[in-house]
Amino acid sequence: MQNDILFFAEQRNGRIQKICFELAGGAKRLASQTGGRSIAFLAGQDVYGEAQSLLQAGADCVFFADSPLLAYYSTDFYAELMEQAVQSVNPGLILLGSTTVGMDLAPALAVKLDAGLAADCTGLWVDDGFRMARPSLDGAATDILYCPDGNPVIATLRPGVLTPLAEEEALSLPAASADTVKELSLSLAEEALRTQNRVELIEIEPGNKRSDDITKARVLAAGGRGMGGPAGFETLKRIAELLGGSVACSRACIESGWADTACQVGQTGKTVRPALYLACGISGAFQHTTGMDGSGLIISINKNPAAPIFDISDLGIVGNVEVILPQLIQALEAYQGI
Ligand SMILES: Cc1cc2nc3c(=O)[nH]c(=O)nc-3n(C[C@H](O)[C@H](O)[C@H](O)COP(=O)(O)OP(=O)(O)OC[C@H]3O[C@@H](n4cnc5c(N)ncnc54)[C@H](O)[C@@H]3O)c2cc1C
Repeated sequence: MQNDILFFAEQRNGRIQKICFELAGGAKRLASQTGGRSIAFLAGQDVYGEAQSLLQAGADCVFFADSPLLAYYSTDFYAELMEQAVQSVNPGLILLGSTTVGMDLAPALAVKLDAGLAADCTGLWVDDGFRMARPSLDGAATDILYCPDGNPVIATLRPGVLTPLAEEEALSLPAASADTVKELSLSLAEEALRTQNRVELIEIEPGNKRSDDITKARVLAAGGRGMGGPAGFETLKRIAELLGGSVACSRACIESGWADTACQVGQTGKTVRPALYLACGISGAFQHTTGMDGSGLIISINKNPAAPIFDISDLGIVGNVEVILPQLIQALEAYQGI
């Protein structure tokens, strides 16, 4: 097995996306087990400064390509350049985020490299080669994947599955021999790249504001069926506002039409790791907890003292959300002088 791990450092408007810091941390940890390096691939316009932040996040080396042609994502340009980075280092594993861009780039790269691709993974580890986990059968089972001839193996990871390196952890992992930033020559002339591009971005139309991205929230006020209906979610919105966070929910609430699908946490929803997860009227089915049990502090409110959510909670409150949450709002408003 090749030891190096290459990850795609996705940028938007020249800014590295949060998922890249998760991939950088995961790649560095895996590389410390394989004896290889964590290597970033970054493409964009005026992105040199971002290359430095990837080194600080755990990359031992950054391959970057800088051109106005790369300011916006393009499948052909990015796949072409990433293939060059792969050929320079011959990594055993290539990681991308399960983002819109990552899910477009990964299959294009897999075809170019004739490589195995494990898409939308919720787990990744080393065990005589790389192993990947991903939900299957609409979340009823988890597949464990291995690419026998996969050299390299490509995996897309859901946001929140890997975590950024903490400062002390970064110091405890083997240091790279030298921090390096290597510019990829746009091996084909820019004009040639331009003519090879089969899809051209003509215009970006601003869309409607989407729901908050719950994977980025530091605080989540999450509701389950016990919230009783849409009015319960208005209460959660107020709590999220007061705590500077977002609203999340269980699948039961999506099925009841009380919340937006983008808010669903769990096996068939999103994986989240906020500093605080306030679980209100959520029973704690494993399909839900698998998406939030890595949260920093879990506080649960449930009227059933035997609810399984209490097993993974740091603080459990047995009681009725209709009574407790208005009191919490009052206390938060008083504390904030509102
Ligand atoms: C294939 C598959 C995939 C799935 N994927 C997901 C997933 O990604 N995410 C997910 O969340 N679920 C998922 N589920 C569903 C999951 O199994 C549970 O059914 C779901 O999580 C239950 O949601 P809940 O806890 O909100 O509701 P319930 O299980 O009905 O629990 C409601 C809780 O609220 C409490 N309660 C009721 N009233 C009050 C009150 N007034 N005050 C305080 N507490 C109260 C009750 O005691 C109870 O514990 C999946 C299921 C399947 C089969």
